[in-house]
Amino acid sequence: HGTPVTDRVKVFANARAADYAGRLSLLGDLRRAVERNELRLYCQPKVDMRSGKVTGAEALVRWAHPRLGMVLPSHFIQLAEQSGMITHVTNWVLNAAFSQLRAWPVDDTPQTLAINISAYDFRNPTIVRQIDNLLSAWRIDPARVQFELTESALIDDPGATLVALSGLKALGVELLIDDFGTGYSSLSYLQKFPVDGIKIDQSFVMPMLDSPDSAAIVRSTIELGHTLSRHIVAEGVESEALWERLADEGCDVAQGYFIGEPMPIEDFPQWRAGWEAR
Ligand code: C2E
Ligand code: CA
Ligand code: CA
Ligand code: CA
Repeated sequence: HGTPVTDRVKVFANARAADYAGRLSLLGDLRRAVERNELRLYCQPKVDMRSGKVTGAEALVRWAHPRLGMVLPSHFIQLAEQSGMITHVTNWVLNAAFSQLRAWPVDDTPQTLAINISAYDFRNPTIVRQIDNLLSAWRIDPARVQFELTESALIDDPGATLVALSGLKALGVELLIDDFGTGYSSLSYLQKFPVDGIKIDQSFVMPMLDSPDSAAIVRSTIELGHTLSRHIVAEGVESEALWERLADEGCDVAQGYFIGEPMPIEDFPQWRAGWEAR
């Protein structure tokens, strides 16, 4: 209000310039980060709502930046996508994820590991062959691997995406639509693409106890998903009250701070043992 328009424009321009410079230097850093082994793999548990058993975890990347500390993916994934660096990040994540999955104990409930795949990864025509090669190299049972795809990954180039998804399905992995409900015309994707499950975005899950609209969206997503034989994962389960409500609604799998926060992936087997013994 008090600031003259010209000054506000200048402030905005300076902020843009600073932002641009910051992004440029971060991008330079990102190019070195993969080579210098500065990426870290975290993971967050997923729990079956009926049995209470841990079904596996979702791999979440972090960047241990030498000056900025632990950088969250929201600060660098988009940059990586726009610059083409995402190919290297994804490749790093796949190797780190498979090497950990390889080391997890196999018992009565073999654990699955979910990996986030970006829309840009599908522009890479060799992505399916690459994943196939890595599964073989690490001797991973594909049934224990899930890929989480955001709706933007699906709309980007539906034809090419369908080919890639069918290729991935043929390998024997599971596919989930991530952040369900935040994109466009989600419903048609359920019919078009060979996906096994749906992750309801936390922006619908977190307010559902106070917002009848959010609750209705969650309920109808669960209903629709089950009608189409898809399993439903809720993300952002931050409280016991939310857990109870989602269990009542028939949700299959839960993920969120109430169950466990993201942790270094090396810590997961011990965390799981603690959960199962509680
Ligand atoms: P996402 O796939 O929707 O992952 C869930 C995000 O919500 C994670 O943030 C997680 O830490 C956070 N979260 C989990 N439980 C709760 C909760 O109970 N409450 C709240 N408030 N938040 C919760 P994170 O780790 O910062 O990841 C952000 C996004 O970055 C992810 O969103 C995913 O889209 C992307 N991402 C992460 N790792 C990778 C990766 O390896 N490759 C690609 N392409 N994207 C990644
Ligand atoms: Ca995800
Ligand atoms: Ca998600
Ligand atoms: Ca989300």
